[in-house]
Amino acid sequence: MPAKIAEVHPGIYEIFLPLPMRPTIINVYLVDCHGAWALIDTGMNTPDSVATLEDAFSQVGIRLEDLTVLFGTHHHVDHFGASSTIKRRSPQVTALLHQLETERINRMLSLGGPISERPEAMEFFRTNGFPIEKHPPEAMRPMWFGTDMYSPLDRPDRYLNDGDVVPVGDRQFEIVWTPGHAPGHCVIYLRKEKVMIVGDHLLPKITPHVGLYPSAPTGNPLGDFINSQMKVQRFDVELVLPAHGGVFHDHRHRANQLIEHHRYREAEMLDLVRRRPKCAFEVASQVFGDEERPIAHVMAATFETLAHLELARIEGRARRIDRDGVALYQAV
Ligand SMILES: [Zn+2]
Repeated sequence: MPAKIAEVHPGIYEIFLPLPMRPTIINVYLVDCHGAWALIDTGMNTPDSVATLEDAFSQVGIRLEDLTVLFGTHHHVDHFGASSTIKRRSPQVTALLHQLETERINRMLSLGGPISERPEAMEFFRTNGFPIEKHPPEAMRPMWFGTDMYSPLDRPDRYLNDGDVVPVGDRQFEIVWTPGHAPGHCVIYLRKEKVMIVGDHLLPKITPHVGLYPSAPTGNPLGDFINSQMKVQRFDVELVLPAHGGVFHDHRHRANQLIEHHRYREAEMLDLVRRRPKCAFEVASQVFGDEERPIAHVMAATFETLAHLELARIEGRARRIDRDGVALYQAV
């Protein structure tokens, strides 16, 4: 598979890897550290993607076996799904990931069986008013779930922590913990180069998904996401390297747009629950449209709506009322 690559900064290569779903491409980054090589994210573990990655390496004159360090921005299938394949091919690689992402990986790998056999998941759907019984459980899981396409390392060689500086060859990779899209999501900052590799935290065209899920039903991921958008603005950046979409320059502008987008969405949702309390599913249907859509989209919309309603509750703009086992939210 001939790979498309671009040298976006001296010695920093953007590699476009294919995905069998939307978005259809993930960008991973290979960094020449002069005597050592670092890779940020892996793509999915499909033969197509791994072959494309190998071709990209050969275009810059190295082999997978020459890799020194592998950073994972987060545990998602398109970011860390091929990490065990890379580690098997290149046992000398030091693989790094945040501990919270490793916990997610182990949770995901332990989820066998259909959703209908997981009482806590069924409870989560019922509580949020989602008509789970109307949908076949097979339709509820992504196509890669439980397959080889997701072959993450279940233990990295080291955990990434906020503020870590990881030296690789003559470069310094600073770790900035940016929870929100995933609880242990990290972006990687090259201070001297003024380059930030942002994973899914700051995408130029799309809004990264932030939600509460059956497997992670509590917490305040949207509040975390907004705080993480403020956090990255403290860094001096000239080039932003995202996992999806084109490279861009103004990280502060994009971070503020994302904060605004979520504030607007929240206001829209609170308007809907001013007169009468509603469950997350009902609010999602009104905000995102209730025409026939793939069930996976309806689920994602419900998870995202719940994250908004919980943020509003935690910050005192909404309250939660439990009625017959269903959680209803109302603006206050
Ligand atoms: Zn992701």
